[in-house]
Amino acid sequence: MKEERKQSVVLVPYLLQGHLTPMLQLGSILHSQGFSVIVAHTQYNSPNYSNHPQFVFHSMDDGLKGFDMSFPSVKSIHCMNESCKSPLRNYLVRMMEEEGDQLACIIYDNIMFFVNDVATQLRLPSIVLRTFSAAYLHSMLTILQQPEKYFPFEDSQLLNPLPELHPLRFKDVPIHVINNTVPEPLLDFYKRIHDIGSSVATIWNTMQDLENSMLLRLQKHYKVPFFPIGPFPKMVPLASSTSILEEDNSSIEWLDRQTPNSVLYVSLGSLVRIDEKELIETAWGLANSEQPFLWVIRPGSVPGFQCAEALPDGYEEMVGERGRIVKWAPQKQVLAHPAIAGFFTHCGWNSTLESICEQVPMICRPILADQLVNARYLTQIYKVGFELEVMERTVIEKTIRKLMLSEEGKDVKKRVVDMKQNIVAAMQIEGTSHKNLNDLVDFISALPSRLAPPTLLLGQS
Ligand code: UDP
Repeated sequence: MKEERKQSVVLVPYLLQGHLTPMLQLGSILHSQGFSVIVAHTQYNSPNYSNHPQFVFHSMDDGLKGFDMSFPSVKSIHCMNESCKSPLRNYLVRMMEEEGDQLACIIYDNIMFFVNDVATQLRLPSIVLRTFSAAYLHSMLTILQQPEKYFPFEDSQLLNPLPELHPLRFKDVPIHVINNTVPEPLLDFYKRIHDIGSSVATIWNTMQDLENSMLLRLQKHYKVPFFPIGPFPKMVPLASSTSILEEDNSSIEWLDRQTPNSVLYVSLGSLVRIDEKELIETAWGLANSEQPFLWVIRPGSVPGFQCAEALPDGYEEMVGERGRIVKWAPQKQVLAHPAIAGFFTHCGWNSTLESICEQVPMICRPILADQLVNARYLTQIYKVGFELEVMERTVIEKTIRKLMLSEEGKDVKKRVVDMKQNIVAAMQIEGTSHKNLNDLVDFISALPSRLAPPTLLLGQS
């Protein structure tokens, strides 16, 4: 018997792992609410279709051949936005002819800003998915509204508070600064990706209870309905994978052999790189702390090296069974494992949420962008982690011991347990995330269908 589904939604994720994951998770959430889900994605970092048999996928010609996408440039992002326009529009026009009013809306990552143009042209409702914390978006918007208040700054100001942005300091400015200022074209780019065009709503991978004041301020600016329905990691099955890289499942077998609540998990996400010196200092900090650790060293994350060969000679033999190094782990399952006691993280928003959802306290080593804001909130406001500001082996060793062995570490653990309980409450029937998800489903179901006859638009460029 054919399953009865509500309307279809088309999702357009941005190609980085940290953006693909929440969009695919949102797809699973909407599918569980009865929508048909179509994912229109770039060729680069195509999702693994076999992990999502319930979705329909459509690959778009992304124009990215020749670009080094291991760390996307503004130029490559503009090129991708230009290249994907026609493929998406032509696909949607065909869909609209075939499905008529069944296509409810397009949901896109704000870095795929071309979607707004396509949706406007086809008179399709569009919704933006925010894959970041509201605190980060709020700090960006505040800075972008009055950049002259923040730039240029002096080196001597680095530890000074950022005006109106407590608890951030100048060194936590989440914008890419060059010589303590931001070039005009970069500011324009940031403005572009923070504009939601004519989108009718925004969906947030966050919790209203956690970020209410930021969300209210942002809503005053954007003036469309907000749906904070997260955290997504708790709303999809633990074992469902959204990884682009192959997950090394031997990590779980190794964790099974460890004592409960004893292991530090170390990972800096899918994008950032560190230099060889930082890798060596981290290696000695971990070894000297004498705590068991599971360490992800992603290929290419230390320029010039594939994976563990940047480590000191004989390091892995010296550490023995106490340490395990892998290229990519099934992180959500790792964090949920009873052996895990702490997470040494770069504070990407997905990693942050995954850690809180599993009540794992953190050591925060942010490197760029939203990580800097998330780390300040985690350590100064929520107080569920310790900040690591000096990447030197004795400091790393001490911070690990503080998290894993001290009274202060126990307090941090208690607070993250409380945070996790608040998340569970938000997801129950009377909880805010649960209610916001129901409202989102009603909102999408009630969206008006577009007015223009789509066939006329086929072939336009
Ligand atoms: N991740 C993973 N295995 C790893 C390292 C990371 O599955 O070995 C996942 C992690 O669970 C998270 C994502 O990669 O969902 C990284 O996203 P995040 O926002 O934390 O950081 P980004 O990679 O965007 O900097």
